[in-house]
Amino acid sequence: MTTPTIELKPSASPLSDAEREAILASPGFGRHFTDHMVTIKWTEGRGWHDGQLVPYAPLSLDPATMVLHYAQEIFEGLKAYRQPDGSVASFRPDMNAKRFQASARRLGMPELPVETFIEACDVLVQQDASWVPAHGGEESLYLRPFMIATEVGLGVKPANEYLFLVIASPAGAYFPGGVKPVSIWLSEDRVRAVPGGMGDAKTGGNYAASLLAQAEAAEKGCAQVAYLDAVEHKWVEELGGMNLYFVYGNKIITPALTGSLLAGVTRDSLLSVARDLGYESEEGRVSIDQWQADTENGTLTEVFACGTAAVITPVGTVKRSSAEWQHSGGEPGEVTLKLREALLDIQRGIGEDKHGWMHPL
Ligand code: PMP
Repeated sequence: MTTPTIELKPSASPLSDAEREAILASPGFGRHFTDHMVTIKWTEGRGWHDGQLVPYAPLSLDPATMVLHYAQEIFEGLKAYRQPDGSVASFRPDMNAKRFQASARRLGMPELPVETFIEACDVLVQQDASWVPAHGGEESLYLRPFMIATEVGLGVKPANEYLFLVIASPAGAYFPGGVKPVSIWLSEDRVRAVPGGMGDAKTGGNYAASLLAQAEAAEKGCAQVAYLDAVEHKWVEELGGMNLYFVYGNKIITPALTGSLLAGVTRDSLLSVARDLGYESEEGRVSIDQWQADTENGTLTEVFACGTAAVITPVGTVKRSSAEWQHSGGEPGEVTLKLREALLDIQRGIGEDKHGWMHPL
């Protein structure tokens, strides 16, 4: 399979320093995009070709483009952080590249070589390096690689043409006013993914499927939904966009990868970071009844969610149809905060990168 070299065609009119600085002063999340994007095409029989870095711009798509009808689409999310010496490094892009390949396989799409995925991210970050927020806080440049089926036609089949893109968006601190626990609605009837389905692929359909439950959670006064397995409606899987960890004193447990939840990069990293800090960490199974009972009997001491966007979010109030409870008195727990700080320190280049996770640019 050919590996394209990405041709640089930079913008003649990027935003001025003053305009960019105004955005970076308060970037929010996913609201502003950098000056450029990377695009690479794939065509049946030809493979990957026409890799380019071009000015960020709208796409022009025929109304019958397959992705608009049958949702053959996958995406990734990773971050680049400013390091203390002023350089920029991304966090474990190889993991995202491999997960992108796994998602592609599940959706019947071509697999982008790992090195091309990383090269595309690197080229964009290098070109738009001035968009990576200054070192110090928790700000970062969020990268969104994605791929869509671009063949035109209404026949239901894997497309014979695809477009891979990377766009980038500066991201502010997730908790600008200090870490705050999130409230969780435990959905006992709506499911996110089924065995044999595509729950472990990062594809738009999974997020579309989560939006109604998310709206229901909001009606119950909760910020996020926790999903259970689709067969027994008993085993806790994950949130709509984050994995979960249960803290039992000195041990942290995360639901095992059953195929219907996403293999989070943060989740994987925390299994190691926890061990580095002297905690036990393991993958296992936690039922909804156990979650409630172990909170009541005091053995389950903290619960937190984790993902690229927020790194670690403490779980505060939990509601299910029959009950409601609270963790750590509604404050972030001690283990949660320690793990959060340790992982963020590695990402910001302050802590020792003993696993070689940072990818310098
Ligand atoms: N689960 C889902 C459904 C997600 O969308 C995400 C965010 N990518 C995660 C878990 C966390 O994954 P990661 O740590 O790789 O961001």
